Amino acid sequence: MNAPLPLACFDDARALEQIGAQWDRDIVAQLAQYIGVPAKSPMFDPQWAEHGHIEAVVRQAADWVLAQKVPGLTLEVVRLPGRTPVIFFEVAATRAVPAGSNVAQPTVLMYGHLDKQPEFAGWRSDLGPWTAKYEDGKLYGRGGADDGYAIYASIAAIAALKSQGLAHPRIVGLIETCEESGSFDLLPYVDALKPRLGQVALVICLDSGAGNYDQLWLTTSLRGNVTGTLKVEVLTEGVHSGDASGVVPSSFRIMRQLLDRLEDSATGRLLPAQFHCEVPPERLQQAQVTAQILGDELFKRFPWAHHDCAGSTLVTLPVTGDPLQALLNRTWRPTA
Ligand SMILES: [Zn+2]
Repeated sequence: MNAPLPLACFDDARALEQIGAQWDRDIVAQLAQYIGVPAKSPMFDPQWAEHGHIEAVVRQAADWVLAQKVPGLTLEVVRLPGRTPVIFFEVAATRAVPAGSNVAQPTVLMYGHLDKQPEFAGWRSDLGPWTAKYEDGKLYGRGGADDGYAIYASIAAIAALKSQGLAHPRIVGLIETCEESGSFDLLPYVDALKPRLGQVALVICLDSGAGNYDQLWLTTSLRGNVTGTLKVEVLTEGVHSGDASGVVPSSFRIMRQLLDRLEDSATGRLLPAQFHCEVPPERLQQAQVTAQILGDELFKRFPWAHHDCAGSTLVTLPVTGDPLQALLNRTWRPTA
């Protein structure tokens, strides 16, 4: 057997052709079938286990992966009691760590999810969440992009490396079914699978947005969130509004004042310094280039409301008209 080639020999044009052909020939049909299953996340389908939709998409994806016969790949559907299942796959490194080496074998972890958001309203009359439709190079339906494609993309990429005989490190895949509910089932699986995950040196998380369809995009920052319940109590029980207002302070007014401590309601700027961070210089530079590439697309992608009434037009205006500031606002700066 020939030794695997180093990655420097990667023929990207060949990989693009191979994956593109596989996508058109096979994967679009797989995704269409996936779209047909209302595999809603447990938060939107508490009876997910009885309904069996999560099980159906997990089965479909697992069977497809196994049918690809990727050399060195093993797959298991892992199930912890009372939790949504995960698909765990493992592809051995093409080169073993030399015996006696104390360098741990680095592992690449690929992540995705197969559970979906609920239907929502607003579908075009000839489209729907559970009926896949392919039109002008786009596949419509719930869940194909978020995030059904992830496992198919991962395996297609690994198969492309294999078919060029390229060396790669150990790769594992973790495909969960609880992401749209906040991934409350994921950590117990990470704990349970820890020994099998190995020394994870790179995580490829196939579950983010893209600026356009013309180039490859990487997500370099994601904002977290802090949530809470604000309760303003001014009386111990409800009384008639005509009787109390003007004497008892309005709970809404107090709530507004409290929120104003957090956010400048005129500009949307969050006031506590703790929520802000310094944007690293290289990220600022990248944001400038990205703003030039995307320009108006940063604004056009949103369904802005506007109303024509009594001879005047009411329009929603963006927080800022500057693409760079818009980009920084939605990535590095805090918002309420
Ligand atoms: Zn997602």
